[in-house]
Amino acid sequence: MSYHSGRHFLQIPGPTNVPDRVLHAIGQPTIDHRGPEFQKLSEEVLLGCRRIFKTSSPVIIYPASGTGAWEAGLINTLSPGDKVLMFETGHFATLWCTMARKFGLEVDFVPTNWRHGADPQIVEEKLKADTERKIKSVNIVHNETSTGVTSRIAEIRQAMDNAGHPALLMVDTISSLGSVDYRHEEWKVDVTVGCSQKGLMLPPGLGFNAVSEKALEASKHNGFNRHFWDWNDMLKSNANYWYPSTPSTNLLFGLREAIQMLEEEGLDNVFARHQRFAEATRRAVRTWGLEILCEEPKEYSPVLTTVMMPENKGGDAFRKVVLNAFNMSLGSGLGKVADKVFRIGHLGYLNDLTLIGTLAGVEMGLELAGIKHQKGGAQVAMEYLAQQAAAR
Ligand code: PLP
Repeated sequence: MSYHSGRHFLQIPGPTNVPDRVLHAIGQPTIDHRGPEFQKLSEEVLLGCRRIFKTSSPVIIYPASGTGAWEAGLINTLSPGDKVLMFETGHFATLWCTMARKFGLEVDFVPTNWRHGADPQIVEEKLKADTERKIKSVNIVHNETSTGVTSRIAEIRQAMDNAGHPALLMVDTISSLGSVDYRHEEWKVDVTVGCSQKGLMLPPGLGFNAVSEKALEASKHNGFNRHFWDWNDMLKSNANYWYPSTPSTNLLFGLREAIQMLEEEGLDNVFARHQRFAEATRRAVRTWGLEILCEEPKEYSPVLTTVMMPENKGGDAFRKVVLNAFNMSLGSGLGKVADKVFRIGHLGYLNDLTLIGTLAGVEMGLELAGIKHQKGGAQVAMEYLAQQAAAR
């Protein structure tokens, strides 16, 4: 590819742009992971993560991608043959289901058209019908990164309580944590799965499990063998801020900095900023005359917007035009919607002007690729963001 001056626009829904402050933190010399400086770092990140997940119980940090953290959640709590309730909200929910089935779990995988989140009413009905209490966990993807649709976790918790069912609640917050309001403890979530490369503004390489007392209890006598992923080994070491194997020292430097940045801005401000960017993006998309994949406004994702390609035009060819002409990466369609959509990531380290640059790049790309649209989407987004700035 030819040389492009200026920064690449990484507007996929993760990995996201890593702030200079985080890059500098990661760039420090690696330290002894059994020395006092590390112990202090470890204490800060382990306790800091609790504030981000909004929990007073432990958060476990693995040197792993999100997939590893998914696996840890399953094999620390469940046993082969256990029944699990999941919803086919998109590509990532499907992958988590595939993983669960590989482990011999019996998944009731409720279909959707990929344009809606998990339905709390179905959760309640399924759990009420399970009089023998065979369902051991309800697993939900909070923000489906392949579709730009969120599931309403507080309502799902309420549905589980209404049913009076003891199943665990496991939630994938891989693309929502640090960008979308999330409350592990208040919503009585048992396992929250997260990772580093999205709202936490870090490179890939850290996976998280936030764990409730009930999940920990389940992990004491469940039926899967494990070693690397074992919570109990991890927590024994973490009690003194050590790790049972070598941690990702430099990513933990970055994590400490990222937590500090999120807290300097204030988590509520971070969430409001993501809502604002999402609304500005949707206004642009509607102005272009294109369709948003998410059909339910209360399930719109604050972190990405998935746009349907009109007139059977290919999403991948469009993304290629944008990359070549404007040095911007947009998200591709995954799984069932491959080539039928493109995704605009608006999460993590970005501001009003980054977003406007992104939307301008999409609008110019539509023109260049010969895709029928109305002009003025970026302009409408500018007007909205200016109004919002005036109101602040
Ligand atoms: N879950 C969701 C919602 C995701 O967006 C992703 C990745 O994008 C994953 C799980 C898998 O995480 P990883 O690719 O870090 O293993």
